[in-house]
Amino acid sequence: MNEMIFLDNHSTTPIDPRVLEVMNKVFINNFGNPSSVDHVFGEEAKEVVTSAARQVAALLGVNYQNVIFTSGATESINLAIKGRVEAIKAKKNKVKVLVSPLEHQAVISCCESLLGSGVDLTYLKVDDAGRLDLEDLRESCNAGADLLCIMAANHEIGNIFPIKEISTIATEARVEFFCDATQGVGKMEICFEDWGIDYLAFSAHKFYGPKGVGGLLVKDKNRLRPVLHGGGQQSGLRSGTLNVPGIAGLGKACELRNREMVGDEKAIGVLKEQFVSGLKEHLKNLEFIGDQANKLAGNVSFSALGANNQGVISRIRNRVAISTGSACSSGVIAESKVLRALNQPPKVVDGFLRVCVGKFNNGQEIDEAARIIVGAIEEVRKVGVGN
Ligand code: PLP
Repeated sequence: MNEMIFLDNHSTTPIDPRVLEVMNKVFINNFGNPSSVDHVFGEEAKEVVTSAARQVAALLGVNYQNVIFTSGATESINLAIKGRVEAIKAKKNKVKVLVSPLEHQAVISCCESLLGSGVDLTYLKVDDAGRLDLEDLRESCNAGADLLCIMAANHEIGNIFPIKEISTIATEARVEFFCDATQGVGKMEICFEDWGIDYLAFSAHKFYGPKGVGGLLVKDKNRLRPVLHGGGQQSGLRSGTLNVPGIAGLGKACELRNREMVGDEKAIGVLKEQFVSGLKEHLKNLEFIGDQANKLAGNVSFSALGANNQGVISRIRNRVAISTGSACSSGVIAESKVLRALNQPPKVVDGFLRVCVGKFNNGQEIDEAARIIVGAIEEVRKVGVGN
């Protein structure tokens, strides 16, 4: 097999050809600006956007008028957190935000950017498997807070969080709940309205849609202040001409997940087990990280003890795409913040690898990838530290 195998579906996913087909049609046939009220080009583009909002609404259990389209989860997260904090600050001096330490950097950095401007940030407790301490959550909410930020599913260890229960705890304590559902949408059941969630962010490219487009669901638009100022589109909350082809692609991706998610996730789970068996058959000293009872079907996060992950990646990078969870900025490789929050020992962090199976993977690729990864781990273990 000469082709690269893509097993990094947490970072992004390949676009579904059916999504691309819809986008191509919209690019050609519906190039109007949905804000143009004076001609049919605008009306048709607006119709495309409305029908995409309905597709999002059907997947996530929300009224289509409560969907705000954005450039992706990072923007949605900023709009929800900064937009809400600014609105609260108009009424009182101090804003208290509760956040899980396992959140994506987009949430953590957004929250931390508000420190020193009247925002008090408290990190919630998690255990070494990344499970949220629900008693600590309840106590923290009951002690009084304005906004709670907890993700639906984690981007590294794949943990699924009990967001329905979390939402109930927040609602009972009158704390608003923002959920970054970027890794959860299209992979797990989410009922925005029924579960009482206040804000929910997502990105299309995590579920076989296009990059650069996403959304924010909002229970009550009056509670937010805009972050972007301009032409006043989308109830003034997100100015800027709408990315109509991207939004159409996002809508189609939602429609497909709504129809196919359950079957696809089941098949992905079978492939994941096949991959794990392939590892376990040949390797000892593997540690599987995270909450094994509540995980996204495609996630395998593990540490091959004694095999430095950079050494493994350098051996496989032209054949299989997986991730170490590390981030590289300014040429310096920083270890995974999620693993640090789990208090994992250095030997576990050193050997950490993240694999995520997606709907376009097949059994042959899975066996081949397991064989290649096993070979690289054995080699690195033989050569020794740091190689
Ligand atoms: N939140 C989570 C959990 C993610 O996994 C990601 C992307 O990896 C983001 C937010 C940011 O998404 P985007 O880069 O599409 O804005």
